[in-house]
Amino acid sequence: MGDRELEFVKEAFDTNWIAPVGPHVDAFEQEFCQVTGASHAAGLSSGTAAIHLALQLVGVEYGDEVFCSTLTFAATANPITYLGAKPVFIDSDRTSWNMNPELLRQALELRARQGKLPKAVVVVHLYGQSADINPILEACNRYEIPLIEDAAESLGATYKGRSPGTFGRIGIYSFNGNKIITTSGGGMLVSDDAQLVAKARFLATQARDPAPHYQHSEIGYNYRLSNVLAGIGRGQLRVLNDRVAARRRNFETYACALANFPGIEFMPEAAYGRATRWLTCLTIDPAAFGASREQVRLALAEQQIESRPVWKPLHLQPVFADCECIGGEVAENLFARGLCLPSGSNLTTEDLERVIQAITAVYSDTCKTHTSLFII
Ligand SMILES: *Cc1c(COP(=O)(O)O)cnc(C)c1O
Repeated sequence: MGDRELEFVKEAFDTNWIAPVGPHVDAFEQEFCQVTGASHAAGLSSGTAAIHLALQLVGVEYGDEVFCSTLTFAATANPITYLGAKPVFIDSDRTSWNMNPELLRQALELRARQGKLPKAVVVVHLYGQSADINPILEACNRYEIPLIEDAAESLGATYKGRSPGTFGRIGIYSFNGNKIITTSGGGMLVSDDAQLVAKARFLATQARDPAPHYQHSEIGYNYRLSNVLAGIGRGQLRVLNDRVAARRRNFETYACALANFPGIEFMPEAAYGRATRWLTCLTIDPAAFGASREQVRLALAEQQIESRPVWKPLHLQPVFADCECIGGEVAENLFARGLCLPSGSNLTTEDLERVIQAITAVYSDTCKTHTSLFII
């Protein structure tokens, strides 16, 4: 936490706004628009809830198909199934790890010829880096397919100087505990279309018709953000730039120490924007490095250092086993060799040094093994 959050929370208590509406929610939405350049925003209970509403608002219905990045967290695609629609997954490109725009373009062209266009496209901005939005948006616009941007992991990043999440029909963000800023739990839905955002607020508050009694003409949800948590969010927005700087510093420290090891490659930063390095991710080529990603992960775990494999592509998840995937080899390869290192904004130089030492030790050990084999 920064130093303003408690003040805002206390204000919520003092004014007795302990509710899923209130002045902090309104202010958080406005300040979020200022920070991201979004036109309109609705504070919600989670990023997942925001994706659910976004899909419904662009008209996704039972039996529809939705194109979706495959290399991501399950929460990107789960809401597609809440609506009875079906995801079709799209592979990543090697330069950004995000959705391959050319694959998307080809797939939409083919589907247009078959008369089987998807109802929406969900593009993910992964690990703090924007996808290559312009060609993706161009491909969607050609067939008038709404683009939903899942920027849950990439608040604070830029694409050609602007915030990912503000280009498509709807963008969503998350303030879950693991994200770059957090309200413990929460999300935001943004759009240039004021009416769409108003409809999101309506659906998120149980779809109450304007009437003195409780009247409902639509099925709604309980998805609004708490005024207490919005107070935390307002404080967190004020330290977003510090958090981005801290995450980028983590990356620089890791990269300086490890980038020259044979077989280690860090997630590239695409030339079109600036990544937050929300997580520092790298790939390990076992033949060149002398140890696999799993061997490195386990060596770190032995020293109580938590690291994680890169997202398991959704087309490989048992729950999505019957879904189509266009391409898939790039994401599969990133999953097989990719590792996310400890990346918290509060890591100290000593913490980072300990991780670097542990990885260096794995490398030195494999060198020794190789050398002794030669001696024998
Ligand atoms: C965290 C995350 C979500 C879900 O956000 P919640 O606020 O946890 O519901 C969705 N998509 C991606 C890519 C995420 O990392």
